Amino acid sequence: MNQELMVAAIENGTVIDHIPCNKLFEVISLLGLQAMTSTVMIGYNLASGKMGSKSLIKISDRFFSDEELNRLAVVAPNVNLSIIRNFEVVEKRQVEMPSPIVGVVKCANPKCITNNEPMRTRFDVSEKKEGVIRCHYCGREQLVDTVKLV
Ligand SMILES: [Zn+2]
Repeated sequence: MNQELMVAAIENGTVIDHIPCNKLFEVISLLGLQAMTSTVMIGYNLASGKMGSKSLIKISDRFFSDEELNRLAVVAPNVNLSIIRNFEVVEKRQVEMPSPIVGVVKCANPKCITNNEPMRTRFDVSEKKEGVIRCHYCGREQLVDTVKLV
């Protein structure tokens, strides 16, 4: 049986698929799902040919802004997003990490101007080193896997 069907279909809302299992709880907290009044269904440790195991979240009557999706893309890059209306997928896309990443990640350097002035942070995604982002202002590099969000 198709495991995605084990998590009930939704009439309208958003499906976030191919979430790495070790990122699921971070994604839940990032999107504020615990505070939502609409129906949220979560599939954890589902079998996935591509990833071994994956997680997916279905959220009724909720559509996310680009800013929310940018935050999601930093924590869990390459998840698949489907927009559902009347039980049909009307839009499908892969959430990709933005470059530069603006106003999402905190700089790890306490002396960085972004930690001392009221301004938005800005990080460039390194082309040479995979998973590394670099502060536009102070040059401090961080692994994207371990960043703190603003
Ligand atoms: Zn910095």
